[in-house]
Amino acid sequence: MEEEAKPPLLRNRAKLVSVRPRLKQRDFACFRTARENEHAVTPPGTAMARKGNGDGRPDLLGLVPAELREVLRRHFHERGQPEFRAGQVERWVFHNDARGFGEMNDLPLGERDVLGAAFRLEEPATASVSVSRDGTVKHLWRLWDGELVESVLIPTRSRLTLCISSQAGCPLGCTFCATGWSGFRRQLTAGEIVAQFRASRRWARRRDMGEISNIVFMGMGEPLANPRAVLPSLTILNGGYRVGARRITVSTVGVVPGIRSLAERPEQFGLALSLHAPESGLRRELIPLEKRYPLAEVKAALERFRRVRGRRITLEYTMIRGLNDDLALIPALAGFARDTRAFVNLIPFNPIPYQPEWRPSAPGRVQAFRRKLEESGVAVMVREPRGRDIDAACGQLRASRLAVLTG
Ligand code: SF4
Repeated sequence: MEEEAKPPLLRNRAKLVSVRPRLKQRDFACFRTARENEHAVTPPGTAMARKGNGDGRPDLLGLVPAELREVLRRHFHERGQPEFRAGQVERWVFHNDARGFGEMNDLPLGERDVLGAAFRLEEPATASVSVSRDGTVKHLWRLWDGELVESVLIPTRSRLTLCISSQAGCPLGCTFCATGWSGFRRQLTAGEIVAQFRASRRWARRRDMGEISNIVFMGMGEPLANPRAVLPSLTILNGGYRVGARRITVSTVGVVPGIRSLAERPEQFGLALSLHAPESGLRRELIPLEKRYPLAEVKAALERFRRVRGRRITLEYTMIRGLNDDLALIPALAGFARDTRAFVNLIPFNPIPYQPEWRPSAPGRVQAFRRKLEESGVAVMVREPRGRDIDAACGQLRASRLAVLTG
């Protein structure tokens, strides 16, 4: 049986264009960095990662392991301290999740004070924690300058996944996304990205939720639009905190230079593309970045990633009733998935206050999509959004908090 009649969303497509958040030129400034790094991985430990909150002290959380070791080795050498002190601090950073130098009780008191004057080792404050009926946990973190970012812990029977943010807000203005509507605030540093992992891990350990097994860059922001922080943070999470590269997935709406950079890396990081429409015209209405990096270019970058890295890509397809769930789109979607040998996740749309008319596709339509994709030889899963009762989808908690603060 087919579901009820479609709402008048298709008729309203023209309206979509006029209500979309307006992007300013400066919001795209981050892509100059991405373009500059088109054929190279951003060098680890950039000035941005070191700068931290601007007080001049390097942020230890934002240094890749080799750099951290070298910085500490030099520090203790200049202090006339034995070399093993560097290893002690490294253990406190990566294994014990120390939140300050005062906790490092195997170091002399005086050395702890000197470390505190030379370096930063801080995590953001907890602005709020919400626990969903389904076990999903959403943290809202307050950064040193008052900016708010989210991370979400998602437990399942076999794993504990952490979804982290890479930007405060987002410049890309995707029309289905609460973060896109709330605008861009600033880039996160590598240390601020890593700090979400440490703080969430500590929270989960204390509540017997187990170890974080997987990390997805699917929180606030477009990770590949912040390569100076995201690329080193991948190295830190993998090399420092020992999260397997195959268990870390970067999700992008299609930043082509960033996809190419990931393909060049030696590690086996996962890649997910927020596709949401298999045709350029429709996709442009959902993802303004489509104008800059058209689907054909994105597809070529995905094919290269798969060839070079040998890893299966995931395509995320949020299903919005009457907008992108027409069965006539199946051949194009199946073709895209087959050409990129990708796995498709169908996700019923999680309603946001900015698009009050938009609804998730009816369950019957979602299942019809799944069936037809399978018949076309595509591997597909239907994913139910987690933590709906706590606004656990991308940027929703921050957006509702901002609405309360400004409304
Ligand atoms: S979907 Fe991702 S890239 Fe698009 S606005 Fe939201 S956070 Fe930004």
